[in-house]
Amino acid sequence: MKISVVGTGYVGLVTGTCFAETGNDVTCVDIDANKVKKLQSGQITIYEPGLEKLFERNLKEGRLNFTTSLEDGIRDAQVIFLALPTPPGEDGSADLSYILRVADQLGHILKDYKVIVDKSTVPVGTADKVHAAIAKNIKVEFDVVSNPEFLREGVAVEDFMKPDRVVIGTQSERARKIMGDLYAPFVRQGNPVIFMDEKSAELTKYAANSFLATKISFMNEIAILCERLGADVDMVRRGIGSDDRIGKRFLFPGIGYGGSCFPKDVQALVKSSQEVDYSFRILDAVMDVNEKQKLFLLPKIQAFFNNDLKGRHFALWGLAFKPNTDDIREAPALYIIDALVSAGATVTAFDPEAAHNVQQVIGDKIQYADNQYAALENADALIIATEWSVFRTPDFNKMGTQLKQKAIFDGRNLFEGAHMRELGFHYESVGRNPVKL
Ligand code: NAD
Repeated sequence: MKISVVGTGYVGLVTGTCFAETGNDVTCVDIDANKVKKLQSGQITIYEPGLEKLFERNLKEGRLNFTTSLEDGIRDAQVIFLALPTPPGEDGSADLSYILRVADQLGHILKDYKVIVDKSTVPVGTADKVHAAIAKNIKVEFDVVSNPEFLREGVAVEDFMKPDRVVIGTQSERARKIMGDLYAPFVRQGNPVIFMDEKSAELTKYAANSFLATKISFMNEIAILCERLGADVDMVRRGIGSDDRIGKRFLFPGIGYGGSCFPKDVQALVKSSQEVDYSFRILDAVMDVNEKQKLFLLPKIQAFFNNDLKGRHFALWGLAFKPNTDDIREAPALYIIDALVSAGATVTAFDPEAAHNVQQVIGDKIQYADNQYAALENADALIIATEWSVFRTPDFNKMGTQLKQKAIFDGRNLFEGAHMRELGFHYESVGRNPVKL
């Protein structure tokens, strides 16, 4: 099948590459000429495990092409995916301007039947808006389908190639057949393609992300209680997770969720609720808890340094909002950096993939180390903000000699308290008994 993907960011590039991998001819369109030039010359623009190999293969075999021209990019396509940004507007609602602008352009250039697919996360009713924006300028037949994307950054290729489910919102038989054929190679193991109406598909994505964010904030509040009541969140987590109705996944407390999706999607669902005169109170609390959680470690750090961080130097492990990605959007690490620097401290950070993105945003507000141990030189304490696996079994002896004080503030609960005590570290984490030396 000939496919076009408009928007070649995290979702668009993975979508385009994975569809090419199953034999489709894919053209990716992006307005960022620099990005397109890099991609055309074989240079991948995001870090995503496993993507580069597929990207190189499909580019070489001519199934994956890149252009800045929407008209050229969609000319032969049967299906056009819109993988465009939907950032929060000033009031928290999803900004649809990127999508509607492209829809308007499509209305001027469509010449034959095509399926236009909203892959971006968009509020209920967007498929109708996209339909109207295209229809106002043309007479040719077309369908607009909602096909929200559930991939997780860091395991995006795996998620795309073997999705738990594919949600397709359409009431058109013709579009349903085309979408079903396109996704068939991805669900051969029997995972469902769930067909529904456009609005339900649109809401499914927000409901999924909001539910997951709720789980995180819930566990973060349980962690706070654990600390105050003298319980251990790891035990509570295991205790509740073995109940099938609750499940083991997504029960890990930490320093809050970040990224480009959860914060904006929860906010957008709250806004959508308000627009229909409903106050989604649980989600208000989820957002509130998360805001505070990003700085959860700060009072612990301040207490350790007698409420005076001026002149203190911190090592920070992890900048990405989660491991295996270079995405730093809404990353808790950035909030921690802000708080430390405002309190007069300095920071040297290490992240296996995300440092260059942070440097582009905050420049030399902090220093960047080439490896995790170099970051520790002369630091008064180590703060851990992202659970990269390379941080999980570090050389504690080396760490002890490099740090000025053997103090670790771990926002991701990477180590065991008892082990840290044996090694002589002051170790504080989230929802567990601190090791205070
Ligand atoms: P992104 O910012 O990484 O990529 C968007 C791309 O669109 C950029 O390359 C940008 O240059 C391009 N673009 C902007 N305007 C354009 C135009 N007029 N024509 C062509 N290209 C244009 O965004 P993303 O993270 O890929 O997210 C895209 C959508 O997918 C959002 O709605 C997001 O909520 C949703 N989503 C994201 C994820 C994720 O993990 N990142 C997962 C599921 C869904």
